Amino acid sequence: MVTRADIGVIGGSGFYSLLDDAEEIQLATPYGPPSDVVTVGRIGSRSVAFIPRHGRDHRFPPHRIPYRANLWALRMLGVRQVLAPSAVGSLRAEYGPGALVIPDQLVDRTSGRVQTYYDIDGAVHVSFADPYCPSGRSTAVRTARSGGWETVDGGTLVVIEGPRFSTRAESQWYAGNGWSIVGMTGFPEAILARELALCYTSISLVTDHDAGVEAGQGVTHDEVLEFFAQNVARMRTLVSETVQSLPEERTCPCGSALDGIKLPFELP
Ligand SMILES: [Zn+2]
Repeated sequence: MVTRADIGVIGGSGFYSLLDDAEEIQLATPYGPPSDVVTVGRIGSRSVAFIPRHGRDHRFPPHRIPYRANLWALRMLGVRQVLAPSAVGSLRAEYGPGALVIPDQLVDRTSGRVQTYYDIDGAVHVSFADPYCPSGRSTAVRTARSGGWETVDGGTLVVIEGPRFSTRAESQWYAGNGWSIVGMTGFPEAILARELALCYTSISLVTDHDAGVEAGQGVTHDEVLEFFAQNVARMRTLVSETVQSLPEERTCPCGSALDGIKLPFELP
């Protein structure tokens, strides 16, 4: 393969493109095709591959996204650092719509999603105590703050199965545990990135208050999409600037995630 990229961006709801004048690549993986053609281009001096997580026409609901194919495709292209912008609900009154959260922890409340590449020929157990890349996180926080975003450094992202939103009781339970935000796509994306020794950073834009915080009828899909659409240009700018600020050489632990582990197959 000739086309290469070193940074991957997986765009969330409302975020369907990033690069202009980019090359479109149709990729096949052992896990089927990714969500859409992958576009590869440059932002400043960095080569970037972009995948719209739900497909450009939003054809994949959160529980049907080809997560394994997406991360594998990025790795095939040479990507080692991944940025994952997404829309989330807030579990805290103080984080309103427009706040940006760069979580440092994750709680998996999904069910029935394949969450590993290593489901044949022996067990591979990778560490997931700290699910996000520390250097990607600090770069995103620094870049967002210098761009004037109200940014929360850290917090716990609860990933629910969806496609339905939370009940009020679920939402209050999550909030009562001290968790910060709730989304539907951050898992298994984060663990699959780790299983490929990729850096992974969630850039979560709060679009609404989840059911527990709000006294009204709770969040609707239209509200989420409308809010995200209003903020897409700003998110694109933030992602572009973060891409250019990511380290050229990785010094974080992510690249060593598989050291000493015998893999049943070779990674691309
Ligand atoms: Zn890293």
